[in-house]
Amino acid sequence: MSAFSLEGRTALVTGANTGIGQAIAVAMAEAGADVIASGRRDCDETLAMIGKVSGRAGRSLTLDFADPMAARDVFADQPIDILVNNAGIIRRDDAVDFSEADWDAVMDVNLKALFFTCQAFARAALPRGHGKIVNIASLLSFQGGIRVPSYTASKHGVAGLTKLMANEWAARGLTVNAIAPGYIETNNTEALRADPDRSRAILDRIPAGRWGRPEDIAQTAVFLAAPASDYINGAVLNVDGGWLAR
Ligand code: NAP
Repeated sequence: MSAFSLEGRTALVTGANTGIGQAIAVAMAEAGADVIASGRRDCDETLAMIGKVSGRAGRSLTLDFADPMAARDVFADQPIDILVNNAGIIRRDDAVDFSEADWDAVMDVNLKALFFTCQAFARAALPRGHGKIVNIASLLSFQGGIRVPSYTASKHGVAGLTKLMANEWAARGLTVNAIAPGYIETNNTEALRADPDRSRAILDRIPAGRWGRPEDIAQTAVFLAAPASDYINGAVLNVDGGWLAR
């Protein structure tokens, strides 16, 4: 079997109803995985796309990370080999005005839920001796950004936790890595793309000369979930059209 195949594996993708998560769920099914598409709303569109590309029926699972412990019992009674922590939110306001509510909401979904979902996954996967975790980080795991303090703090945290978990679990058969997407055309960046000045400034700095597409991230996620990446541990891989090289 190809080292890039996910055949015989089951993958759970969070926030799989739209954007990057949807593209990852579909790409993993295309690579041979049985996919559990989780969202706080139904993932019918994603399941239809999975059926179309793979001929297999995906499964849907409701997980709302407004409760950061929402996934605590998900892994105990079913073998899941691959976990993709993609669900994430962003809140924009000047740092001097930023509210506690916008701090807590983002930290809960992007960081606290991510850690405790990884913990629940690891408790089930470590005894089996294999598992793959792919976390979705951001360019704001490396850079400061503007008007997004809780998002930046959460994504720096995702990079740090990815390395910590890799350190603890690498020798026990789990790989933990992250992808730092550049500027991708999804709901998350709608406000930026709607602002002609910001949009132009961003595009001018991307060496590839275009915004990223969800599929650009999805193929990297397949790689980090496949045997081909077994010796990659604690990496935060930027997939950004060259933005950070600039
Ligand atoms: P998106 O289209 O807004 O997708 C975000 C996903 O997270 C949606 O499925 C959303 O569900 C889900 N979500 C939000 N709150 C949730 C909650 N409480 N419980 C469960 N799921 C929740 O944006 P995206 O760009 O695809 O974002 C996916 C990931 O990529 C995020 O972690 C984001 O930070 C990261 N990222 C994106 C970019 C970019 O340029 N787009 C760049 C760097 C990193 P609903 O549809 O129900 O809201």
